[in-house]
Amino acid sequence: MTSPDNGLQLVVTNARLSSTDTTLRNIAVRDGHIVAISGDGEDLGPAATTLDAEGRWVIPGAIDTHAHINQRAPEFNHVPGLGPDDNFAVESRGALAGGCTTALNYVQFGPPSLLDSYRMSLAAATSQSMINLLFHGCLMDMGQVAEIPEAVAGGIRTFKLFMPYRGEEARNLGGIGSLNHAEMRLAFAEIAAHNAQALVHAEDGDIVDHCMRHEAALGLDSLSGWERSRPTIAEGDAAWTAMYLAEEARCPVTIVHVSSLEAIRARQASGWSGSALESCAHYMLLTTDSAIGPEGKVAPPLRDPQLAEAITAAVLAGDIDFFGSDHNVWPSAAKKDWDSAKPGLPGIGLMLPLLLTHLVYERGMSVERVVELTSRNAADRFGLPSKGRIEIGADADLVVLDEGRRLIRADELHSAVDYSPYEGMTLRAWPYATVCGGTLAYLDGKFPNPDFRGEMLNQRFTDTNLSEINRAAVTSEVG
Ligand SMILES: [Zn+2]
Repeated sequence: MTSPDNGLQLVVTNARLSSTDTTLRNIAVRDGHIVAISGDGEDLGPAATTLDAEGRWVIPGAIDTHAHINQRAPEFNHVPGLGPDDNFAVESRGALAGGCTTALNYVQFGPPSLLDSYRMSLAAATSQSMINLLFHGCLMDMGQVAEIPEAVAGGIRTFKLFMPYRGEEARNLGGIGSLNHAEMRLAFAEIAAHNAQALVHAEDGDIVDHCMRHEAALGLDSLSGWERSRPTIAEGDAAWTAMYLAEEARCPVTIVHVSSLEAIRARQASGWSGSALESCAHYMLLTTDSAIGPEGKVAPPLRDPQLAEAITAAVLAGDIDFFGSDHNVWPSAAKKDWDSAKPGLPGIGLMLPLLLTHLVYERGMSVERVVELTSRNAADRFGLPSKGRIEIGADADLVVLDEGRRLIRADELHSAVDYSPYEGMTLRAWPYATVCGGTLAYLDGKFPNPDFRGEMLNQRFTDTNLSEINRAAVTSEVG
């Protein structure tokens, strides 16, 4: 559509923006940015596209801080949506249908070269993705640690370190490598020296290795057995070590996919101002009692109902800073039996609806606070200050919400993953429309602008003063 003389790309009318002020607002967008917000009935002029929100909530698009789109297994390349040429295309549609406009996505796991992985991931995403992507790097050995300067120059400013994966488990997962504590010290120092940030998968490899052997000998046949093979003490031990070593190096660090109170206590005791905690909806909404069998295998594991409730309480108390889905693209064929099932759950298209349903409708949290947890805190932490808010100058990443009751059905999620661990659960809110970079990318089950492509956000950092962004990450009191 051609723009009118005023250049407006989009006007969203009759939008509810606040819990306390029910005045309906109009939002005008030009060149991907919000340029005007008006009160009731004020006309902002004609636009190429007009979307009437009809009094619905309009909130910033979700930022999923933890996704593994395109982390595929070659044996499923033939499955539609799970190949190298279409996984970003399909999963980004699933994300839009769930109100996620930006994913912080991990580059394909190396080794050998982090830079090669980044270039391959970026090329595939650039041609396919309908959401904005910021790539996290992964450091699996010291060769990749040596690539940090070049990776930073290429726009990567977050690097994930793994602690749990050893021996046979690492081989089964296609060669995921963990750093030992001495290597972590060196990696944190190198990351800090380049004004970048660390992300840590915190499960202690020694404890996990011991417990996994023990459970395997007993015969792993339940989610409880899988949980015992990766106990919470492994997460607490690793989180404590990671924050201690990161503080010593003055390196900002996020403990990802937190599943235990031990990790939360470690952060409180550490007091390292550069630390942050990410959690996932599945640690509140799925448990070892969920009737999902080996499909529920994920690391860290689902916990018992009491701990899941305690994680909800911790989120309500402000102990978690932001959420990721840890979206994995294993089809059900990769999740058949307890021994061979790949760890990881799909979830990018349900993160925002599930968190709104659970925290707002079931626990009374404000929508504004959910916005902090699903976009604003992550935007501030990861150097995207024009996201996570609806204000003049902000990026026009918007979600218009429907409210009511809707059953979750995997075949309605627009994902290549053919099952959902949340199948049959009831949502109380979900996207009616999703706007990405000012483009109406999703509307009521359809994708009206299929040629739209999201922004590759690492490019914003190639010429940005990283030290300033990082100083904000360290000193801001997220959560
Ligand atoms: Zn992950």
